[in-house]
Amino acid sequence: KGPDPDIPLITARLSGIKHKVLILSGKGGVGKSTFTSLLAHAFASNPEKTVGIMDTDICGPSIPKMMGVENETIHTYAGGWSPVWVLDNLGVMSIQFMLPNKDDAIIWRGPKKNGLIKQFLKDVEWGEMDFLLVDTPPGTSDEHLSVNSFLKESGVDGAVMLTTPQEVALLDVRKEIDFCRKAGIKILGIVENMSGFVCPKCTHESQIFEATTGGARALAKEINIPFLGAVPLDPRIGMASDYGESFFDSWPDSPACKALKGVVN
Ligand code: ADP
Repeated sequence: KGPDPDIPLITARLSGIKHKVLILSGKGGVGKSTFTSLLAHAFASNPEKTVGIMDTDICGPSIPKMMGVENETIHTYAGGWSPVWVLDNLGVMSIQFMLPNKDDAIIWRGPKKNGLIKQFLKDVEWGEMDFLLVDTPPGTSDEHLSVNSFLKESGVDGAVMLTTPQEVALLDVRKEIDFCRKAGIKILGIVENMSGFVCPKCTHESQIFEATTGGARALAKEINIPFLGAVPLDPRIGMASDYGESFFDSWPDSPACKALKGVVN
């Protein structure tokens, strides 16, 4: 089998994007999509930067709801598909936009998922952009292999790993790290989400997973990759996600947003 003829088309299409970053997690529910949304808003808070999120979680896309655009549909034009713009400098693309009914289950096997991811990469017109954040499903599945093989030529900066402090989540992140090493994906660093709990009333921070809080930092040290920061559990984050509001813009001084500013810088 010869080289995939679509790869040069993908590379050309993404050539205006300065940084492409994969957001990975070993486990589901650790806050990967939430973190992707927060990070996108954090980057977009600089009006001179343009940011995109590509949601490749085909079976459980949650980015459109978190970004407040779940009822949008895809816009096609002669040049391809345009992302849904949440802000002037923040665009989103998700399979959710292509579904006639957002509650429909997507039951697809690998080749079909592969085809859709290829189409996303080949046909979405992101234009000139500073950051493209690629939200992936948990674990190491077909979607990861597809994204990696299609993006190899266009140059991915690397992957940010999301975990929570619990040992079960840390175990899975080790597998994800192994996947990246085998697939030749650079690991930009680890973020510990739900690390501690900030009481919105008294602002005291409690360690819910006391024995393992800081586990991601220790893991990063052990395997010699950067620890990018710790985002605490904050009930306002869950609420903002459910209402599709930007937590980053509503609570810029919260401990979570301070941690995010650290990641962005
Ligand atoms: P994943 O993408 O890893 O499956 P999600 O981003 O969908 O996980 O997050 C799972 C749930 O946890 C969501 O309801 C989200 O609002 C909530 N959540 C994630 N991170 C935080 C946080 N730091 N504080 C409060 N709630 C959070």
